[in-house]
Amino acid sequence: MCIFCKIAKGEISSNKVLENDNFIAFHDLYPKAPIHILIIPKEHVECFQEVSGEIMANMTSFIQEVAKITGVDKSGYRLVTNNGDDGGQEVHHLHFHLLGGGKLAWDHFHEDSHKSL
Ligand code: AMP
Ligand code: ZN
Repeated sequence: MCIFCKIAKGEISSNKVLENDNFIAFHDLYPKAPIHILIIPKEHVECFQEVSGEIMANMTSFIQEVAKITGVDKSGYRLVTNNGDDGGQEVHHLHFHLLGGGKLAWDHFHEDSHKSL
């Protein structure tokens, strides 16, 4: 079972922000912004490329609620999902990073790969 499935089942503890029958939001263990929340479906889905439109449709209002709870709905935030190897996905259970709490930089390319583009 993957690490986020274990978090969804409560077998590994997490610092939860919001939960319902289908989704869970918890603080990232290694935050990259003052607010860094991970939002996952409880059902194991490998990545964004594999997720159904139905799950995404239901996830929308859940993510919006997480933004309200963490107080970034008005100030702004970034929602990111890393998909696959080039996207930098390390945990292969779909998750959205909600980042906020300050002005965010915008820098994406790994210094080695960006020279060849
Ligand atoms: P990604 O690189 O998009 O797959 O992101 C995986 C994220 O999961 C990273 O930001 C990690 O810091 C975070 N992470 C890994 N294990 C845990 C955990 N047990 N609890 C909370 N966050 C975690
Ligand atoms: Zn999983």
